[in-house]
Order: sequence, then structure tokens, then C-alpha cells
Amino acid sequence: MRLIRQFTALIYPDRCPFCEELIEPCEIACPVCLEELSRKHIPIRNGALGYRSVASFVYDGKVRRMLLRIKYYQRIQFIEQINAILSRDILDTYEEGFDLITCVPMYKSDQRKRTYNQSKLLAVSLSKMLGVPYLEPLKKIKKTKKQHKLKYADRKTNLNGAFQLIDKEAVKGKRVLIVDDIITSGNTLGNCCRVLNRGKPALICCAAVASAQHKYPEETVI
Ligand SMILES: [Zn+2]
Repeated sequence: MRLIRQFTALIYPDRCPFCEELIEPCEIACPVCLEELSRKHIPIRNGALGYRSVASFVYDGKVRRMLLRIKYYQRIQFIEQINAILSRDILDTYEEGFDLITCVPMYKSDQRKRTYNQSKLLAVSLSKMLGVPYLEPLKKIKKTKKQHKLKYADRKTNLNGAFQLIDKEAVKGKRVLIVDDIITSGNTLGNCCRVLNRGKPALICCAAVASAQHKYPEETVI
């Protein structure tokens, strides 16, 4: 087993998700980034339209570049490394535990174009780490504009009717954790929470790798 791992490491060496330097297998990041991020790793406990949320980092600098690598450059191998940090923040923040994990869904033509939904990959990996089942009770039924490119008033209406609860029974009475890569204004996760709430779950909480809510102070709801 160890030999196979060493052989695989020769072909696909582990890299730091923040700067892409080579790292030892099983390390989360290189020592330089770990040192820098240990100072920046202040879990942000905030809101998504009234629902509790936690994010591991502020969305800027190396964290922003790392999330762009995952989202647009297929560096999906970084997800497990990042989730090693996010999963700890989830456990520290939400003592009540969860019955299911889900993600913010993508519209089908967007997913076809991108080939994968990074939020789903994050959620599936977290589900394995936390030992909580992954399910998809939500569907995105409307193509929407990118939230961060819109003005305040348009951000509020852009997502109206965008998500649908397609499996009410899956969430009824359950403690649900919904995952996204970034919390921007909190509108996307908040809208998903509202739609999930129609299925009468016991609890809904949110988690993301990074938060950009400092850019949207007027919209942040605690
Ligand atoms: Zn690094």
C-alpha cells in the first residue's frame, strides 16, 4: 500500500493548495502558507439571511487564488486538504451535529459547461470526513446572473424562484448542513435555506471555505 502511494506521489505529487509548491504526502499545505494561514485562520461565524454559517477564511489573497484553482482549473485534489480545516471548524461551531449534508446546486447547463460543481465536491468530501450522508434535496431550476456582478437591489431578486425542493421527505425533521465554496453576500445560501425550510427540517446551518461578507456589510444578517 505504501509502495503504491509512493509511486502515485511520483506521478501526482502533493502540492500546496495555496501556492502549488510541492509538499510531503499527508500535509495540508507548505510550511510558508501554513504559517501565514494560521494567522488568517479565524473562523467567521456569521449569517446567511438569518441562518447560522461558518467559513474558515476571509476570501482574499491566497485563499481566493486557491478557490479559483479548484473552481476553474480542475485542481479538485485540493478539496480534501481544505476540508481538513473546514471540517474542524464545522465540528467546533455546530455541537448539535447533522443528519445530512447537501450543497448549493448548479443549473444543469452551467454544470455541463464546467463539468463539475465544486460545492458538491466539497460537500461529498465533508460527508465522508464527518460520517454524515450526502443528499441532493435541492435543484436549481433557473439560470441566474452571478451575484457578485449585480447591484444590491438586483442581488436580492436575482435568485427568486431559482431553487426548488425536490425531496421534501429527505429533510423533514432532519438537521441539515448546506455547503458552498464562498459566502459572498449570504443571499445564495440564504435562499437555499429558505427553500429547504419548506420541508420542515429540525435545523439548517451553512458552511463555506471562505467568506466575502466583509464586502457586503449592508446585506449581512447575523
Ligand atoms: Zn504554500
